[in-house]
Amino acid sequence: MVTQGAYENYVAGEFVTGENDRTLEVENPATAETVALHALAGAETCARAVEAGRAAFASGVLSRAKPTVRMRLLFDIAAELRKVKQEGGRMLCLEQGKSLKSAEDEFEKAAAAFEYYGGLADKAEGRQIPLGDGMVDFTILEPLGLSLQIVPWNFPVSIAARSVAAALATGNSVILKSPEITPVGLHYMARAIDAAGAPAGTVSVICATGGDAGRHLVTDPAIDQITFTGSVATGRWILSAAAENIVPTVMELGGKSAGIALDDADMSKVMAAVRASTISNAGQICSGMTRLIVHRSRYDEALAELGKLAEEITVGPGMDNSVLTPLVSETQRNRVQEYLSIGANEKLDLVTGGGVPDRAGWFMDFTVYADVPATSRLAQEEIFGPVLVVMPFDTREEAVELANGTQYGLAAGIFTDRLNDALWLAQRLRAGQVYGNLWHAASIASPFGGFGRSGFGRERGAEAVMNYAKSKNVCFALS
Ligand code: NAD
Repeated sequence: MVTQGAYENYVAGEFVTGENDRTLEVENPATAETVALHALAGAETCARAVEAGRAAFASGVLSRAKPTVRMRLLFDIAAELRKVKQEGGRMLCLEQGKSLKSAEDEFEKAAAAFEYYGGLADKAEGRQIPLGDGMVDFTILEPLGLSLQIVPWNFPVSIAARSVAAALATGNSVILKSPEITPVGLHYMARAIDAAGAPAGTVSVICATGGDAGRHLVTDPAIDQITFTGSVATGRWILSAAAENIVPTVMELGGKSAGIALDDADMSKVMAAVRASTISNAGQICSGMTRLIVHRSRYDEALAELGKLAEEITVGPGMDNSVLTPLVSETQRNRVQEYLSIGANEKLDLVTGGGVPDRAGWFMDFTVYADVPATSRLAQEEIFGPVLVVMPFDTREEAVELANGTQYGLAAGIFTDRLNDALWLAQRLRAGQVYGNLWHAASIASPFGGFGRSGFGRERGAEAVMNYAKSKNVCFALS
């Protein structure tokens, strides 16, 4: 039963249905019931979005506008996002399963991203190169053109905002492909962009399945840049397609991030990080702590605290602001359950969890394994569920080796009050962000991205502007 209405794509400044009124059913993972319908774009809608994006860019309406015009637009989008935060947050909570607080927080973070890049719109500058008398040499920053941005379902609104805002700040046009599992939150972002008066075609927000988007958007030679956030497998495919047209890409991919608790660690801070990044959003967080590496002197205590944490957390729908909410879909839960079967086959030491609660929806237990060998698939592969593997260490060299011992390199955490040890570790950890005594830096100003298979390019922060701009060098000999 559809309870919350039908939603459209946003193309060339209009809200439109899919070809032949095609729609997809959006499910509430807490109940497994359909919660909304969303228009599904096919080849025709994708082509319209490309045409509109190119026309808007060529018109110069944003690309050649005064930077303050783009700044004003981004600030207005931020204000509109705050207006839809409640309604959009409610729908995002229902379609994704996350807590209502986290869903509304995504809109708040999205607004902050538009404000941050709005503030940078007139500060992205070229430079002058001194060549001596008779020569003038300088650089101009130019937008790339039409940016295709593909986002996943775990944090669709906040992830999309950071790249859409950075691209608009320098005058690009954007096609945002929303994820087919959770498209409704981004429909509200489209409403905010429209209400703020974005010129038609400068931003299109369309929901298409990966296959369709792959064929029609990623391979379209009219696309000038691609920012992809999602799995390594899809990223690899998009990279090879982008190579065909020599298109620059930003790849924000998966992770298997480790927290290291030293012998002096404040265990309450370690548990707070587990709660915020391993359990929150049902563990569907790319940079979440999925491995905990604990000094042997504190190992038993850490396991006991994890057992206590499992008993304390509330399990239930996001609408109740429960701590452990459902996984996004049955497919995702099946995927995570396969890893629990691997854990059972490998006879791993189960500290807590390991099953599925007896209730409707795609819930599963917070699950912790101890003494997991570094070679285990559970210690190596991204599970994307509320599953933590715990390992002991004796020396800090050993801790670094364990933490760096996967193909990923997205985030890492250090729990200690000894600055020397903390910085020694931070220098050696192969991760795009290293957190100390907490997990997740709060600010849009902090750059974010991966090492290794976690991807390349940096989102957030001032450096992200350069994902969407190129330096043009102008060199003159004066007569
Ligand atoms: P996914 O790769 O299956 O899908 C991501 C997006 O790509 C979706 O919008 C999907 O429709 C689209 N897609 C799929 N196939 C495509 C194709 N052939 N062409 C074009 N688009 C295609 O990933 P997911 O399951 O949605 O998300 C989970 C993954 O995302 C995890 O690996 C997680 O770590 C990663 N992630 C990374 C970050 C980061 O910032 N590094 C943030 C969030 C999630």
